Amino acid sequence: MSDEVDLQFGKGLISGYLSAIMGVLSLMGVLCFYYPEVFTSQEIRAAYSVDFVRGTLFVCLVIAYFMGVISFVLNRSKKLAVIGIVTSLVATLAGGSAVEVKVYESTPYSFGLDWFALSLIFSMLIFIPIERSFALHKEQKILRKGWRTDLAYFFVSHLLIQFILLFVTTFTEDWFGWTALAPVQNGIRSMPIWLQFIVATFAADLCQYTCHRFHHKIPMLWRFHAVHHSAEHMDWLAGSRTHLIEILVTRSIVMLPLYALGFEMAALNAYITLVGVQAVAIHANVGINFGWLRYIIATPQFHHWHHAKNHKYMDANYAVHLPVIDMILGTYRCPKDEWPEEYGIVSGKPPEGIWKQFWFPLKPRKKKKKP
Ligand SMILES: [Zn+2]
Ligand SMILES: [Zn+2]
Repeated sequence: MSDEVDLQFGKGLISGYLSAIMGVLSLMGVLCFYYPEVFTSQEIRAAYSVDFVRGTLFVCLVIAYFMGVISFVLNRSKKLAVIGIVTSLVATLAGGSAVEVKVYESTPYSFGLDWFALSLIFSMLIFIPIERSFALHKEQKILRKGWRTDLAYFFVSHLLIQFILLFVTTFTEDWFGWTALAPVQNGIRSMPIWLQFIVATFAADLCQYTCHRFHHKIPMLWRFHAVHHSAEHMDWLAGSRTHLIEILVTRSIVMLPLYALGFEMAALNAYITLVGVQAVAIHANVGINFGWLRYIIATPQFHHWHHAKNHKYMDANYAVHLPVIDMILGTYRCPKDEWPEEYGIVSGKPPEGIWKQFWFPLKPRKKKKKP
């Protein structure tokens, strides 16, 4: 059954979905205020101020109420409006944006509900208007087929951020601590920050390229990576569709050169920002070819070809930051003014749904009958 929703103006659906999303996010925000030691992650918390979150939460509550009332009037099914109004009412009664944050002890074993809520709000705010203005597939709906699965991935990968980081750093430091050699690190740190950033991006993307290419060539790894390629529509949410084990493997491999070479924090932060923006941007439903810039940095067109339902292109464009890596290694394919007609997998597509897709690569495969 398709989960596509046509958000026609005037039917109370746009307001309904907005109200429900903002109401649920507001409730999550209040939970984060009450139980920061359980629901907020220490790394992410350092990136924002409590006042900023209070302001955002207040705006979300107002939108949830206002849109809920509009949807209640316009939409025959009151379900979305009721979800939005009830969740925002509970969030307000529980204290809303004015909840006092108690003194607590941070642990590395907490969820990133704050990271999920803030990322979702600001990704929607930035990418939906960009996609509406520069759409490649103009007929594609905001809530297109498969959006529920992708949102579930977005939720889980953000919620588990701290556990993913813990796994990656433990793996790197415990197994590859010997790679961090002082003379090499001193050499790297003597470089200006902008050069460190370029070297970090190149080194990390080279490792990502290798890992990604293995995922396409080794059948056992492909079953994990097939989940990412099962997306049949490209947009800002599609990139979230990645198997948890693939995230752990790829992030660990990418972390190795960053750890071993010992870049300064400013260069690493710039790289992390690039990863965050580009992971979303290269999947976006944006039909701009970016002129000469497309040879310098991975663009939506470059990565859309990697998602083409055609092996000639799917087994190419493995880099996610720097197309020059594909050019050097002979896997660059990006026709100048053309775009793929179809996305997805030619055969052996995983089932839809995050839970079914989690088990898909882990299930024993049926043996082929001998002729
Ligand atoms: Zn791939
Ligand atoms: Zn992708």
